[in-house]
Amino acid sequence: MLSVFIFVMGACVGSFLNVCICRIPQRKSIVFPCSRCKCGAQIPWFLNIPILSWLFLRGRAHCCGRSIPARYFIVEILTATLFIIMFAISDSPSNFFIGSGFCSLLLVIAFIDMDTMEIYDPMSVGGMLVGFVISLFFPGWHSEQSGISSLIKSLSGACLGSGLIFWIAVIGEMVFKKEAIGGGDIKLLGTIGAFIGWKGCLFSMFGGCLISTLTFLPLFLLWKLVKTKTFTIPRIIPFAPILVVGSITYVLYGKNLLEMLL
Ligand SMILES: [Zn+2]
Repeated sequence: MLSVFIFVMGACVGSFLNVCICRIPQRKSIVFPCSRCKCGAQIPWFLNIPILSWLFLRGRAHCCGRSIPARYFIVEILTATLFIIMFAISDSPSNFFIGSGFCSLLLVIAFIDMDTMEIYDPMSVGGMLVGFVISLFFPGWHSEQSGISSLIKSLSGACLGSGLIFWIAVIGEMVFKKEAIGGGDIKLLGTIGAFIGWKGCLFSMFGGCLISTLTFLPLFLLWKLVKTKTFTIPRIIPFAPILVVGSITYVLYGKNLLEMLL
């Protein structure tokens, strides 16, 4: 019963994340007004139920028949699933809320980066500051006893994460003669470090690249086989989604994965 509740809660949060992904790049308020279709019609509450409405409408707007991107559905189901897994693995309510909040922030950052190739400072730098405060007051998140040692873990994670990727960016620029990694990615790694420490940072970078390659390379190849003419490899690949895949994997399974590797 409780897991059904958590799933529904995750789906509702996912619905809110969709609003953030849509409106933050347009500099619109994420609270008002309520959801409207692109044709201008207001969406009634019963057609705005997370996950179910999209399925029920089969991805078409009720008012004008416009197609509703599958991404709305994907973000909702992804968030709900993350909440359920987070609930199952968390040893305390505070860890569940911190983990779910962190994953939600990362999802918004990743999807906005895919749309606009930008990472907004209020989310990355703001997220990092929130990470420090949480580390100080909830040392259990870093499996520490005292707030100070937990904060040190968080600070060192932020420094190492953004420092390491900064030097990768510098070397990348020297080798490729153009900006290889953006400033937004450097700040994002600071945020990731503030929440999951330096081990999490390293895992996000290298694990994220590995997991993304293993997942998306076969998909790309398959796509190429099916549609040879329309296939083009994007010239610039947003880096945030790769880091986010790595970080979320670390939050959910990091301890076990590290134990397996080391
Ligand atoms: Zn419409």
